[in-house]
Amino acid sequence: MLEQTLEITPSRQADVAGTAVRRALPRRARRTVGAWCFADHMGPSDRGAEVAIGPHPHIGLQTVTWLVEGEMVHRDSLGSEQVIRAGQLNLMTAGRGISHAEEATGAVRGLHGIQLWVAQPDSTRQAEPAFEHHAELPRVELDAGDATVLIGDFAGQSSTARRDTDHVGVELAIRAGVTTMPLRGDHEHALVVLAGAVGIGAAVVTPGHLAYLGIGRDELALQATEPTRLLLLGGVPFESPVLMWWNFVARTRAEMDTARADWSRASERFGETSSPLERIPAPVPPWTESPGRTEGGVASPGNEEEHG
Ligand code: MN
Repeated sequence: MLEQTLEITPSRQADVAGTAVRRALPRRARRTVGAWCFADHMGPSDRGAEVAIGPHPHIGLQTVTWLVEGEMVHRDSLGSEQVIRAGQLNLMTAGRGISHAEEATGAVRGLHGIQLWVAQPDSTRQAEPAFEHHAELPRVELDAGDATVLIGDFAGQSSTARRDTDHVGVELAIRAGVTTMPLRGDHEHALVVLAGAVGIGAAVVTPGHLAYLGIGRDELALQATEPTRLLLLGGVPFESPVLMWWNFVARTRAEMDTARADWSRASERFGETSSPLERIPAPVPPWTESPGRTEGGVASPGNEEEHG
C-alpha cells in the first residue's frame, strides 16, 4: 500500500473580539486545502453573548459560518439580517466587495463554532456579492455517527449551497468506534477537530490542529474513543496561489491597496449595514509600513486584525 500523506500542524492561537480562536488555516506550511483558505475554530466559550464584530469589508472570498453552540446575528450591506443557530449554515459571497457585522443575540451564553473562508476563483471573484442561509442541510448516516453536508457532495448527498469551485465541507459527529467514509480521490482533504479526538491510523488529532490528508484517498477510516465532532474539508487544489491580508483575498498588493482605500473612504463598493456597531478601520499593510522591504510575493498570513 502506498504511504498516504498525513501532516498535523498546530493552529495559531488568536483573539477575535475577545473570543479565543484556533486558526488552523492559513499556516505557513499549508495555505489552502482546495479553495479553503481560512479556518478559525471559535470557543467553546461561555462569553458568547459578548461577541460583537463591527462592520468590516471582504473581497474575493466566501465566509462559511457554522455553529455547534450559541447563536449570532449577521447583517450585511445587501440588507441581509440573519440569525444563525447551531446546525445552520451562513454563506456569504464577497465577490468585488461586501461588508458585514456579526454579533451575539444576547439570548445564549455559550459559543462554539468555526468560521471558514473559501477563496473565489478568477471566474467569480470580481462579480456581485451574495448571501445565503441554509437552515436545513443533507445528512448522511455513517457506521458510528453521522455527517452533515455543508457544501458540495459527500457519500451520495449534495448540499444546495453555492459553490464556485469543486470543493466539499462536511461536519462529522462520531461516536466511539470506527467510521469509514468515501472520499473523492482527486480532492485534497484536511480535518479540523472541534471536540473530542480522532484517530487516523496511528496518529491522533485533537482540537487546535489541522490534519492535512493530501490527495488521492478514496476512503477514510476514523477511530474515536469518545463523542467527537470535526470538520472534513476538501477540494480540487486551488487554481492559483492566493494573497491574503486582513479581510481580503486577492492576487496582487495593488488589489489590496485599492480595497483598503475604498473601505477607508467609505466607498459605495462596500455599502452599509444596519449594525449599530462601529465600523472596523483597516490596519496599515506591512508592505506600506516597511517600504524598503524587498521580500516579495505573499503577505504574512494570520494578521492579528484578520478575523473572518
Ligand atoms: Mn467577516
